[in-house]
Amino acid sequence: MLNAVINELVKGELPKLPKKKPLEILTLETDRKQILRKRCEPVKSTKDFRPYIDEMKVIIPAYKGVGLAAPQVGICKRFFVVRTGKDRYEVFINPLLVKASDESKTYTEGCLSIPEMKYFVKRPRRIVIKCLTEQLKPVKMKFHDEWAAIILHEMEHLDGILICDY
Ligand SMILES: [Zn+2]
Repeated sequence: MLNAVINELVKGELPKLPKKKPLEILTLETDRKQILRKRCEPVKSTKDFRPYIDEMKVIIPAYKGVGLAAPQVGICKRFFVVRTGKDRYEVFINPLLVKASDESKTYTEGCLSIPEMKYFVKRPRRIVIKCLTEQLKPVKMKFHDEWAAIILHEMEHLDGILICDY
C-alpha cells in the first residue's frame, strides 16, 4: 500500500516549492510607481526588512547604484541599503535626521528610479542621523559631503521625495 502511494507520488508531478517573486526596481514609468510617492511605514519587526535586503544587495551593483531604498523595490517600509565598499553594504532602518549644517553644496545626482537622468541637488554638507543597524542596534552617525548627499537622497525616498522634485 505504502509503495503504491510512493510510486504514485514519484510518477506524479513533484510538489513545487513556493518561489519568491524577484524584486523589481520601480521607476516613474512602471505601473506601481505610486509607491515611490508614498510616505513609508516604520519598520516594526525583522520581517519588514530581512526578506529583502540580500536581494537589494545584489541589485545595487547589478544596476551600478550606490543606494537602494525599500520603496524603489515596492516595499513601503522605512529602510534603505547603501553600498559602502566593494563587498560592503550597510542597512539603515527607521532613519531620522538629527542635525544638518547650514553650509550646503550642489551635487549632480542620478536615481535608479529615474533612469538616465541627472539632477542638480543642493544639500547640507554635514549631517547627523539616528537609525537602527541591520542587527537592530540603535546608532548615531555623522556623514559629510558625498556620503551626506547619498544618505539624504535615500532618506527622502522614504518620504516619497525624488530628485526630480528639486
Ligand atoms: Zn534614488
